[in-house]
Amino acid sequence: MTPSADIRRASLWKPLSQQRVHCRLCSHYCIVPEGRSGRCGVRHNKGGTLYTLVHDRVAALHVDPVEKKPLFHYLPGTATLSLGTVGCNFTCGFCQNWSLSTAAHDDGVSSPTTVTYVPPRSIPGHQVTPQVLVEEAVSCGAASIAFTYSEPTVFYELMAGTADLALASGLGTIMVSNGYQSRRCLEALRPRIKAANIDLKAFSDRFYRDVCGARLAPVLDNLKRMVGFGWWVEVTTLVIPGLNDSDDELAAIARFIHDELGAHVPWHISRFHPAHELGHLPPTPLETLERAWKIGRASGLHFVYLGNLPGHTSESTFCPGCGTLFAERFGYRTQLPNGPECPRCGAHIPGVGWGHTTRKGHAPHLYR
Ligand code: SF4
Repeated sequence: MTPSADIRRASLWKPLSQQRVHCRLCSHYCIVPEGRSGRCGVRHNKGGTLYTLVHDRVAALHVDPVEKKPLFHYLPGTATLSLGTVGCNFTCGFCQNWSLSTAAHDDGVSSPTTVTYVPPRSIPGHQVTPQVLVEEAVSCGAASIAFTYSEPTVFYELMAGTADLALASGLGTIMVSNGYQSRRCLEALRPRIKAANIDLKAFSDRFYRDVCGARLAPVLDNLKRMVGFGWWVEVTTLVIPGLNDSDDELAAIARFIHDELGAHVPWHISRFHPAHELGHLPPTPLETLERAWKIGRASGLHFVYLGNLPGHTSESTFCPGCGTLFAERFGYRTQLPNGPECPRCGAHIPGVGWGHTTRKGHAPHLYR
């Protein structure tokens, strides 16, 4: 890893008086004074111009099973080159990737009350270009590139440039995100992204404000837009003991997915492991996860999956028509069908790329 303070003029902002700038990349819409950075810590105002500090710098790069994103119905059984930079526009106390998300903050702390506007400092990461990343993906045998780990919105320029080249090379493109893009940002991503896994962390604005330093409404609006774009969308909720695990909250999430996005949209219910500022909480009990799964199914969702529970039957896909096992999973090992039809009743199982399994990914050369 090479520290760097390389910067490039950012996208989607406008100048204000007194050398302040208005960043319009995400729904925080930060007004950033001269010499300071926005809430994400990686977009910096220098002399009245907004710069990105992470346009050429990945801090994490791996070849993963696409199921790890998690995406279960998009190019299933394939490998995806997964990358992320430092920086995040949320401040979730339960962040499972906090070493990346907080690395651009001066004090390395991310809670809604401690986010500070700080000057740019060395940005950790490996220097890359979109071209290099796409070449890596092809040479690693990946079927797609996934923008993930921290929050891809804050490295929009790297994501957009890489996605353009990836699509031209026949690769799929995946965004794993908190769904907090501005409308302009999302429109700019529309032709570039083919599949997304979006966190719906809770169904209460208070939770989003107090725990994540954000608001709920933009996430709900963006989820509807992404489905409207024709992206393949799956939703993930990390269930945290005592914070978002009530029947009412889980039912509200499931109802929203069913009524506003569609019964076919997969819902991943993920197990919390103590981390970051919530290290004192216990892991999510199995009974809680199974209760959430039942709530999801009772709400009419066709595909509800439990995450971080290798070997549990709820990792697998069953035909919503006749209940036949369609795609079997054990952790990231998969037994997949030859096509999108249920072998018993012939029902079409929604998704992209069933029956085109080509998992052969290996570690990227950049990190060898
Ligand atoms: S990307 Fe979001 S958090 Fe970062 S400066 Fe822009 S508006 Fe603020």
